[in-house]
Amino acid sequence: MPSRTRNGKFQYLVKTYYAAAELPTSRADALQAGFSIFLGKPCHSGHTGIRYAQNGQCTECLNHTERQLQVALKVAPPEVVALWDECAEKAHPGNSYKARITKRYLARHWMRANAELIRTVLAAPKPVYTAGPEDFDNLEGAYREDA
Ligand SMILES: [Zn+2]
Repeated sequence: MPSRTRNGKFQYLVKTYYAAAELPTSRADALQAGFSIFLGKPCHSGHTGIRYAQNGQCTECLNHTERQLQVALKVAPPEVVALWDECAEKAHPGNSYKARITKRYLARHWMRANAELIRTVLAAPKPVYTAGPEDFDNLEGAYREDA
């Protein structure tokens, strides 16, 4: 498998299972033949060129922005996240797909402005669970902060 990320697995599956079916090389062909993806031009980030037929966007880039949003949702204060939701809903009322994309971009801009905060949060040690199944009744001291 070329990459350990979830999208790496997706790309691997695409290459393995769609190779036999021969991916269409244009968006119009893909839509006509009922494919959800097609093999277009490599994107500006140098990805393989597997794109969604629905909107022509690079599958890897879209997955990357979604992963960024997941990180931002963990780090950002709740009032900021609420603001993103409000802005995205205002920009695309009743269209949750487009609202989600707007939310991703808002999150990305926020992350750029708060890079230092994100670095410190991500660098902080995660609690490590050390207790076994027999200790479920006694979870005192089950989390270690130093590991
Ligand atoms: Zn890309």
